[in-house]
Amino acid sequence: MVGEAFKKKPIEVTAPAERPCDYFGRKVFTREKMYKYLPKDVYEKMLEVIDGGARLDRNVADAVAAGMKQWASELGATHYTHWFQPLTEGTAEKHDSFIEHDGKGGMVEEFSGKLLVQQEPDASSFPSGGIRSTFEARGYSAWDPTSPVFVIDDTLCIPTVFISYSGESLDYKAPLLRALHAVNVAATDVCHYFDPEVKKVQSNLGWEQEYFLIDEGLYAARPDLLLTGRTLMGHDSAKNQQMDDHYFGAIPERVAAFMRDLEIQALELGIPCKTRHNEVAPNQFEVAPIFEETNLAVDHNMMLMSLMRRVARKHGFRALLHEKPFAGINGSGKHNNWSLSTDTGVLLHAPGKTAEQNLRFAVFITETLMGVWKHNGLLKASIMSATNAHRLGANEAPPAIISSFLGKQVSALLDHIETEGSGFSLDGKQGLKMDIPEIPELLIDNTDRNRTSPFAFTGNRFEFRAVGSEANCASAMIALNSAVAEALTDFKRRVDERIAEYAKRAEFAEGTGHTAQYHAIIEVLREDIKVCKPIRFDGNGYSDEWKAEAERRGLDTETSCPRIFERYLDKESVEMFTKLGVMSLKELEARNEVKWETYTKKIQIEARVLGDLAMNHIIPVATHYQSQLLRNVESMRAVFAADRADTLSARNLKLIEEIAQRTASIETQVEALVAARKVANKIEEEHARAISYHDNIAPLFEGIRRQIDKLEMIVDDASWPLPKYREMLFLR
Ligand code: ADP
Ligand code: MG
Repeated sequence: MVGEAFKKKPIEVTAPAERPCDYFGRKVFTREKMYKYLPKDVYEKMLEVIDGGARLDRNVADAVAAGMKQWASELGATHYTHWFQPLTEGTAEKHDSFIEHDGKGGMVEEFSGKLLVQQEPDASSFPSGGIRSTFEARGYSAWDPTSPVFVIDDTLCIPTVFISYSGESLDYKAPLLRALHAVNVAATDVCHYFDPEVKKVQSNLGWEQEYFLIDEGLYAARPDLLLTGRTLMGHDSAKNQQMDDHYFGAIPERVAAFMRDLEIQALELGIPCKTRHNEVAPNQFEVAPIFEETNLAVDHNMMLMSLMRRVARKHGFRALLHEKPFAGINGSGKHNNWSLSTDTGVLLHAPGKTAEQNLRFAVFITETLMGVWKHNGLLKASIMSATNAHRLGANEAPPAIISSFLGKQVSALLDHIETEGSGFSLDGKQGLKMDIPEIPELLIDNTDRNRTSPFAFTGNRFEFRAVGSEANCASAMIALNSAVAEALTDFKRRVDERIAEYAKRAEFAEGTGHTAQYHAIIEVLREDIKVCKPIRFDGNGYSDEWKAEAERRGLDTETSCPRIFERYLDKESVEMFTKLGVMSLKELEARNEVKWETYTKKIQIEARVLGDLAMNHIIPVATHYQSQLLRNVESMRAVFAADRADTLSARNLKLIEEIAQRTASIETQVEALVAARKVANKIEEEHARAISYHDNIAPLFEGIRRQIDKLEMIVDDASWPLPKYREMLFLR
């Protein structure tokens, strides 16, 4: 079987005859298509809805639906679906056909504005954390016109939010849209200090998706991969990533064919894929698009993940999106490159030519840090999951402490503002002059990087690196954009108070209000630079010293996944989310119930699979091999004198004993695991049960695995029931 995997040939992928720019977005109802398929007045209304957040009235919706249907039918669509992102990490869809009775005994194809705008899927089996009990199953999905509809196969997909009948969000998109709105409002206000013309601020996201590919035949022979997404056992391959020869190496042919296919399909769906390369671990790869507006980027990432799973199957692979499918080699993350931009340009861009631009840059960097500092525990909660827990703090990916790396120049800039008051000269009408020679270099120097930092500034954006490969980016983006929105709002309030105060003073007399404003901004900025200093860390995030230091600095150093989720219910978090209108207390509580329940289920499934494999696969095979050895020892005794026979059988006798000890140890440990599960399962409360699973069950896996991995090295290779690491990890 392993040999077969190596013999497979790449699947032919025929690229469309046109160039990528011609087929880009072919399956998306873009503005261009709206213009073509909608009456002019309807098209203009749609633009008001998309760009200006205007409401859509019903008759316009009917006209939009008609145009959409016509376009989708031309692509072969016969069905439509409201496509949404429930709290299960994946996406959900229920397909309905366009056909309706025509009232004369026949059928017509129909798609009304009503069906486009709102639906009531039977939502009883999506996690809701108790907001909606099963018998009161009404939740509805509502169209998000800011993310364009698209066609997959024969189905028109309509991005929607998913909301309970009583108005609480049951998905990721609804709170994300609210957080994006909040950061827009807060950031636009602050921008007005520098440029009154700014109309809106947009949050951007460029994700980098890491994943593993393995041959589907080998995958099918690993029940642990199949059921949990990761290998629960498996001895290290003698060679893995120590040679660093996979990173940026040549892409194997079969994989290259898969990537081409994936990219073509992604581009057709309007996902602007740009980069592909090998990652650090064997069989690990990355795909990254050009960054986009955050809501759209999140949808595109969800689309790409499901597309990737499909295309992989077509090529005889399985795509593994789990954060840690294999022990001992790197896991997979999803860097979230985040920035803010105005309708006039990127906000976090390295300083520009004027003092205003430089000061604005410093303000946005500092207030981002303020948000991240104040809510560092919450941000960690936003990226934490049972699966990402394997990555964080495991000496490879970001540590389980959120900190920010700024690089030399930006650090120098903030230090300068903090300490050297004289660096700023208040210079009449010209406003402020900043005497910081290092700043222009920032544009050039991109090598100043720290790979261990979970939240690093990289030139014109922050890179939130702790996000898990399998996660919905929305979770991190909700927390981050909210935290920054809160910090900016707070900043604005304090600056305004200060301006009012300064305006009364003689040195800021009438006519120099401008100067009072700059003075106020710098004063508040200086305070904030001091306050958020603990979040700045440029050293080695993996070291033990950092852990101790972070504790001294008051940063969150908790590592237990279910306890980290508690941060969502901290006073500061609840206050922030409710004040900004992102999530209510009820929603936050319900979501945490879902998080704890999901955590418990994941560990529970792993525990069961591990126990089953140990008892049904490993012990029988090891015992069988042991019997072979015993027969050999007996035969030796039949041929040789007892003493001589035992000398010759010394190794086998040792192995026989070792197998006996190891299988016995596995058995006792599996019994302990079952017993611990029984205890935990009796706990009613989700929070306490998750903690029990974390504290009492998950830690038992390692001991069982260790014994199994040792047996893997002893037992005859031909009879070992599971594909080994060295077989799974080296695609050719
Ligand atoms: P890395 O060196 O981190 O691997 P990549 O080039 O692979 O960098 O990915 C960088 C990602 O950051 C891309 O998705 C890119 O579009 C995105 N990006 C670049 N500039 C910005 C920005 N201003 N805001 C958000 N994302 C950005
Ligand atoms: Mg990156």
